[in-house]
Amino acid sequence: MIFRIIFTDISINPRKIITHLNIKPRLCLLKSTAFDIIIHVKKVFIKTYGCQMNVHETEKLYSAFERENITAADCAENADIVVFNTCCVREGAETRVLGNLGQIKKLKQSKPNLIVAVCGCMTQQSKAAEMLHKRCPFINIITGTYSLGALPQMVKAVEKGEKFILDLSVNEEVPQGTNLATRSDNVNRFVNIMYGCDNFCTYCIVPYVKGRERSRRLVDVKEEVRILIENGAKEITLLGQNVNSYRDENNDFYSLLSELAGLNGDFWIKFMTSHPKDLSDDVIKLVGSEKKLANYIHLPVQSGSDDILRKMNRKYGRAEYLRKIDLIKEYIPHVGLTSDIIVGFPTETEKDFSDTLDLVKQVEYNNLFMFIYSKRNGTPAAIMDGQVPEEVKKERITRLIGLQSEISNKLAEKCIGETFEVLCDGHGKNATGKTSDDRVIVFDDGGKDYYNQFIEVQITSVKNSKLYGKIRG
Ligand code: SF4
Repeated sequence: MIFRIIFTDISINPRKIITHLNIKPRLCLLKSTAFDIIIHVKKVFIKTYGCQMNVHETEKLYSAFERENITAADCAENADIVVFNTCCVREGAETRVLGNLGQIKKLKQSKPNLIVAVCGCMTQQSKAAEMLHKRCPFINIITGTYSLGALPQMVKAVEKGEKFILDLSVNEEVPQGTNLATRSDNVNRFVNIMYGCDNFCTYCIVPYVKGRERSRRLVDVKEEVRILIENGAKEITLLGQNVNSYRDENNDFYSLLSELAGLNGDFWIKFMTSHPKDLSDDVIKLVGSEKKLANYIHLPVQSGSDDILRKMNRKYGRAEYLRKIDLIKEYIPHVGLTSDIIVGFPTETEKDFSDTLDLVKQVEYNNLFMFIYSKRNGTPAAIMDGQVPEEVKKERITRLIGLQSEISNKLAEKCIGETFEVLCDGHGKNATGKTSDDRVIVFDDGGKDYYNQFIEVQITSVKNSKLYGKIRG
């Protein structure tokens, strides 16, 4: 990006102004009648793969670059630095990273000074880092999940002549204090409450690439949430691989939620992801009784078959899961329930799968995130006997999608005539907003700006499970 500042008063020393603005000019042209200063502000583009945690890591990464006066680019073509913040939880994300790196290779041919960095879960596996370096020797930096904050410094080292940096070091220290990402949009803000995972579900790579479970201090989380609310945030989503096992000395997840619900302001708190074995009855009751805790629970079941759950090492059974669902429905009025399901886990029989269909019918989730099982190298499930053929997995997931769309539609139809409190996150004739139970509603804002405000919307119609409404006057 080029800024041009023209000084018409020659008594001004432009270098002093630049120092005052804290910007670093790359090129200055001085004319005799005026100072004409061209500043090249470096730009970074970050491509994010995977879950909300990665989206939030990217926000923090942009902020770390901003502190070094490197601003965000809208696409790779307009950037001086391109970062791939990768994910290895699903096979598709890895394949997309490799495809996108192919495009960057072409870009680098026309922009040889472009700095390319790959970070995140995928690179934390040493074999993946080796493979990336071999297949894409034009990558300047490969770093894992623990050193993300140091990326701007690594970029500086490359600018100074370092050819290639590989940093897969492991550092399980929990950062202290607040770590706020700067963002212009303030509607839904994320706050990490913990890192890593101790559960070792047999299909999942996360514990191997993100390390052991460790929580941030309650005072730090509370302060971060307080600042976000003070700055106008209305929806805060607490993030962790297993938020229910949050622990800071004597404080558990229940204490954390109670403290946050006691903060002043007009906001609601959502959280993800919950693990069915750790979601306590007390937390369920607290969510039901505190208005500032949203009526929304994402509770991944993964399978409806006890045998498959055991092989997945999920540490709960179907009956225990359903008991929690009953308790949630009893204590949280108008609760929005969503879940994750893996179809075609090794040895899954037609009977196992029909147990899953049966559980989905029983629970009636608002929404489901459905995945076909894919092998993750280094996990126990990848070497299990009884891998399910691809065509069987595809046929099963098609049935599951069909069932869920019937349920979603039925639940949506039931909303017609009801009025919801909605946090508006859009503008215009097709403005959108989210409810406390995490439904999206489309409505006409009548030309008024309700962005980031709570308003009342009555549901008037449903199309393909999507809710449409009108603002209550
Ligand atoms: S709880 Fe299981 S699925 Fe979730 S991150 Fe941990 S190991 Fe992976």
